[in-house]
Amino acid sequence: MITRTKYNPKEIEQKWQTRWEAEQLYHAPDDSPKPKFYHLVMLPYTSGDLHMGHWYNYSGFDAYGRFMRMHGYNVMQPIGFDAFGLPAENAAIKRGIQAYTWTMANVDKMRRQLRMMGAGWDWDREIVSCLPDYYKWTQWLFLQFYKHGLAYRTKAPANWCPSCNTTLANEQVLANGTCERCGSTVIRKEIDQWLLKITNYAEELLDFSKIEWPEKTVTMQRNWIGRSEGAEIRFFAEIDGKREEIPVFTTRPDTIYGVTFFVLAPEHPWVEKITTPEHKAEVDAYVDEARHMTEIERMSTEKDKTGVFTGGYVTNPVSGEQVPVWIADYVLMGYGSGAIMGVPGHDQRDFEFARKFGIPIRQVIRPEGEAPSDPATWPEAKEALGVMVNSGQFDGTPADKAIATVTRYIEEKGIGKFMVTYRLRDWLISRQRYWGAPIPIVYCPKDGTVPVPEDQLPVWLPEHVEFKPTGESPLRYEPEFLNTTCPICGGPATREVDTLDTFIDSSWYFLRYADPHNSQQAWSKEAMERWLPVDQYVGGAEHAVLHLLYARFFVKALRDMGHLNFDEPFTRLYHQGTVLGPDGQKMSKSRGNVEAPDEYVEKYGADTVRCYMMFIGPFDQGGSFKAENLEGVWRFLNRFWSLVTDSWVENPTDEETGESTAIERLRNKTIKRVTEDLSNFRFNTALAALMECNNALIKQQNEPVARSTAFRQTLETMMQLLAPMAPHISEELWHLTGHAGGIHTTEWPVYDEALTHDETFTLVVQVNGKVRERIEVARDISEAEVRKLALSNPRVASFIGESTVQKVIYVPGRLVNVVVRNS
Ligand SMILES: [Zn+2]
Ligand SMILES: [Zn+2]
Repeated sequence: MITRTKYNPKEIEQKWQTRWEAEQLYHAPDDSPKPKFYHLVMLPYTSGDLHMGHWYNYSGFDAYGRFMRMHGYNVMQPIGFDAFGLPAENAAIKRGIQAYTWTMANVDKMRRQLRMMGAGWDWDREIVSCLPDYYKWTQWLFLQFYKHGLAYRTKAPANWCPSCNTTLANEQVLANGTCERCGSTVIRKEIDQWLLKITNYAEELLDFSKIEWPEKTVTMQRNWIGRSEGAEIRFFAEIDGKREEIPVFTTRPDTIYGVTFFVLAPEHPWVEKITTPEHKAEVDAYVDEARHMTEIERMSTEKDKTGVFTGGYVTNPVSGEQVPVWIADYVLMGYGSGAIMGVPGHDQRDFEFARKFGIPIRQVIRPEGEAPSDPATWPEAKEALGVMVNSGQFDGTPADKAIATVTRYIEEKGIGKFMVTYRLRDWLISRQRYWGAPIPIVYCPKDGTVPVPEDQLPVWLPEHVEFKPTGESPLRYEPEFLNTTCPICGGPATREVDTLDTFIDSSWYFLRYADPHNSQQAWSKEAMERWLPVDQYVGGAEHAVLHLLYARFFVKALRDMGHLNFDEPFTRLYHQGTVLGPDGQKMSKSRGNVEAPDEYVEKYGADTVRCYMMFIGPFDQGGSFKAENLEGVWRFLNRFWSLVTDSWVENPTDEETGESTAIERLRNKTIKRVTEDLSNFRFNTALAALMECNNALIKQQNEPVARSTAFRQTLETMMQLLAPMAPHISEELWHLTGHAGGIHTTEWPVYDEALTHDETFTLVVQVNGKVRERIEVARDISEAEVRKLALSNPRVASFIGESTVQKVIYVPGRLVNVVVRNS
C-alpha cells in the first residue's frame, strides 16, 4: 500500500540518474554471458549544445537500446565526441580562446545535457577524438595505410578557399562555387596533398549483400561510386613526326563511327603539343579562365557549354577519320583520361556542344522501330541503344550485340580494350588547418618523406598556439612543433604541418569503443571478436554517402592488413527523420524558429520531452516541434502516475469477474502492439497504444474490476512497456509499487496470442454466397450454435423463405454460408 503523491519529474529524474550511474546499470561488461548487442548512434560534433535534433535522435535510439536490454541482450550503447574540426578553430579565433579550451568546455556541457536525458550511455567507453589517447591511434592508423601503400602524397589541383586558407572537399563547395563555411568564391590551386586509395576498394564497396541498410542509402552509395562498363579506345596523332596515342573511355563503343570531334580538358598535357600557332592565343586565354573555376561549376549541367578549337586533329582508329580537337572546361583532368570522343548524335552533352559550335552531327545508331532521319531536325541526341548504321563493316549489327561486337573488334586490332571505370576518386585527407590530428610524417633534406616510428606516437598537437591574421595554420609558426630530427639519419627535419580530415576520426571510433582503455593497441583482437560489427547503427541520412562509405573502406582495408576479421562495420542501419521548427521549416537561427530542449526539460522533465520527441511522427520522418503538444504527453504521464498510485492505495480484492478477462485481453493486446512497434522503431504508435490502454483503464477505475489482480498486473505491464521511452517515471512507479530490483533489467513482458484477439468477432452470414447479415458472436462459439443462430435470424430467414436448406458451411471465426435450393 502506498500514499497518493504528485508526479514530480524534477525530483525523481535526478534521483534515478544518480542511482543508475552509481550502480553502473548501463555499463556493458566485457565478460557477460548474455548475447551482445552493439547499439551505436552517430558521434556528435562538439558544437556546444545538444539541440532538438540530438534529442530527437537519442530519444528513439535510447528507447530501442533499452527494449533490447529487456530482451536479454548485453547492450553496449557508448557515446563520445567528434572534437576536431574547423568550426572549433573558427570559434576559437573569433573568441580569442584556444580551440582546446573551447572544445573541452563544450564537451563538459554536452556531457551534462546527455546525462539529463537519462539515456543509457556507457560512460566508461567515452572517447574524445581531440585527446592524445585517441588521436595517437588515429595517427597509428594513418601509418598502417601508408605502410600498405594506401596513403600517398601528390601535387594535385584542389578546391581552395582563399579566405579559410584551406582545401575543401567537393561536398564542402556549394553549387554556386562558394565555400560552405564562409561563402567566399572557391578557386582551383595546385598543392601537395595526402590521399587515401579508397579507389582500390571501389568494386568491393559496391557489394551490399552482408548488410541491411535502407535501399535509398545503398543507391546513393552506388551512384557515388559510379561504376560504368565500356571500352578504352586509343586515338592517335602525329606529333613532331612521331605517332602518339591518346586513350579515351566510352560506355558506347558502338557509336565510334559517330565521332565528329574530340575534346581535351584544358589542363591536358596534349593541349600544348597539339595547338597550332594560329590558335595559341585563344587556347591560352581559355586555359587560364578554366583554372579559376571549381569542378562543380565546370560540371554544372546548367552552365552554357564553352570551348575552343586547337587547330589540331587526331585519328579515329576504327574509321580512320581525322577528327578536330577542341578543349572544353566540362572535361575534367581527374576523371578518366581527361579526354573524350564527341558523339553528338548519341550523347546529349556532345549534342549541345556540337549545335553551339556548328560541328557536324551524324546518325550511327537507329533506335528500334525508327527510320533513319536527318540529325539537323533532331531536338536532342538519340541516346537509346539501337541498330548500327553508317558504321562501315558494322552496319546492321543489332542493339543487343553492338557494344560487345565493337569492343571485341578493337581488342583484336590492339587499338583498345574492355574497361570498367568508377566515378569514385581517392579520398583527400590533408587539411591546411590546426585543429586536427597531425599527420605523422617528417621531411628530411636527405631522406625525403619519412614516417614517424610507431613508438614515437602520438605526434603531439600543441594545445596553445597563436593564430596569424593571414588565417594560415599556426603549426607552421610553432618552432617546437615544426622542427624535429629525422628518424632515419638523426639530422634536422621538419614535420608535416597539415592535419587529418575529421572524417578519419569518425571512420574508426566505433572500433575504439570496444576497447577504449587499451594503451598498447588501438584495439585488441578479443575486443573485436566480442563486440564487432555494430549490430544497429542510428544516424542522420545526411551521412548516407561520405561517413558511411569511409567507415566501410576503413574496415575492409584494415581487414586486408590483418587488423580486423569482418567485412562490414554496421550490420543494420536506421536513419531518423528531422525535427522541424513550429512553422514546419528547418530550424535555423536566421529563421528564428530554433527551440532549445533545455527549457522544456526544466518545465516538464526529461521523460515528457523524450516521449514527445517520439510522438512527433514516424521516427524516420520527423515532424514539426510544437511546444503546446508537449502538454498532451505531460497529461498522459500524469494520468498514468495517478492511476497507478490510486490503484495501490488499497489491497486488491481479487474478484474474478468477467471484466477481469476483458482486462487480461487488453493487457495482451497492448503488449503485442508495443512489442511490434518498438521492434520496428515505431515509437509514436507504441505510445499511442499505451495511451489507449491508459484511457481504457481510467474508465473502469471506479468499477469493482479496478481492485482485481488483473487490473494491477496490467498497470505493472504498462510500466514495463513504457520503461524504454520514459525510463524515470516507470522506474519510480516500479519501486513505489513494491518491486525489488530495477525495472530496466526486468524481462520484457510476453503475450498470449490467443488473448490478443477480441472476445467476440463479427460473423458474416451468407445465403447462397451473398452476404445477408452480420452478427456479433463469442469467439469460442461452437458450430452447432452458429448454425442455430444463423437459421433463426429473422433477416436471414426472410432470404431463405420457402426454400429448402441443403447445407450450412461454417468457416470458423469468419463466416457461415447457408446453401438453399428453390423448391
Ligand atoms: Zn571559406
Ligand atoms: Zn634523414
